[in-house]
Amino acid sequence: MEAAEDREHRHAPPGGAPGGGDGGPQDERRPRRPRPDPQGPAGDAEPDDFHPERGRLVLPRGDRRSEDRPGTDPPPQEGRGFGDRRVPAEQGDPVRPSSSRRIALARLLEEGRGAELAPDPVAFPHRYSDPRDAEAAAFLAATFAFGAVLQIRNFLSRLFDALPPSPHAALTGAEPVRRRSVAGLSHRFISSDGVYRFLRCVRGAYLAHGSLERLYIAGRGEAPPDLRRDLARFLDGFRDRWGKSLSRERDFLFPRPERGSACKRHNLFLRWVVRGPDGVDLGLWSAVSPRDLIVPLDTHMARLGGWLGLTRRKTPDWRMAEEITASLRAACPEDPVKFDYPLTRLGILRICTRPRRGVCGHCPVASLCSLRSSAAG
Ligand code: SF4
Repeated sequence: MEAAEDREHRHAPPGGAPGGGDGGPQDERRPRRPRPDPQGPAGDAEPDDFHPERGRLVLPRGDRRSEDRPGTDPPPQEGRGFGDRRVPAEQGDPVRPSSSRRIALARLLEEGRGAELAPDPVAFPHRYSDPRDAEAAAFLAATFAFGAVLQIRNFLSRLFDALPPSPHAALTGAEPVRRRSVAGLSHRFISSDGVYRFLRCVRGAYLAHGSLERLYIAGRGEAPPDLRRDLARFLDGFRDRWGKSLSRERDFLFPRPERGSACKRHNLFLRWVVRGPDGVDLGLWSAVSPRDLIVPLDTHMARLGGWLGLTRRKTPDWRMAEEITASLRAACPEDPVKFDYPLTRLGILRICTRPRRGVCGHCPVASLCSLRSSAAG
């Protein structure tokens, strides 16, 4: 395990901001975008790192599809919040459900059972038995879950060391977290000043609403659930407390799903607090049904989604996340996102060996994969 993490770690130096930035208080540069992988998006950058309007992957002409071109978004539909860019229901299930897919996904779940949590940032909220601490730790850990695995773990260890012994108490106490407690604590292109502002925003939300679940419910109001709209309002509850400077860091830490961002880290947070408890996800909230969750679209899910026929889209944005979710929903309508953890393990733990070695080893989804080699089990 350590060897795998070390290999991943080499892609990004610890604490190094993209483009050689020092991550200091004035460093607001955006991450340098990776070159597109001919097999799909890859590397440490996540779909969240791509601004859908300014950071689209450049595709060979032959790979472009009409739905990936600007100006071809589905027309607004009555009763749809943000009736602008979402995939209508009739487009949302690009591949018909099949018994072979159900069998392969069931096999994936079975083989992934009991896998250790250690490399995943969800291990941090599992440290706390008090649900208030677990919720706060989940939001902090998910928000900073970008970059190489070892880099994330190092940063989160230092962050939680600065909030002892209870993250919830540290965020809601009479005295706010001091700036000097997080001095020098930066993560990739998020400066220590950005980390400090982030903690102040979370504190403000807690003091105003009592819990993050109540903030989410307040954003929804009396309207029926709409995850994209509700998540946008939830994140606005933090953005509005940020202040004027470091706007690029703010926009990265609190992205806008209504502008097309896949919001991988915040859909990951919702998965953690809504699903379960099942040993991985925490099952802390009742405000959202697992049926309504959207997959956290990281590079592994975006790549596998294409190979497994879960999406035909090329741009890793909110619409791709919706399309993959719709395909998984056909296999399990009550809980489509339960496949996220074992699917992304294939990439994160390098069980999928094809990109590096050119051949597939034993793989639970080989029967679905368009890229499988004859050696796949
Ligand atoms: S069949 Fe091969 S390429 Fe496809 S997911 Fe499995 S290991 Fe990766």
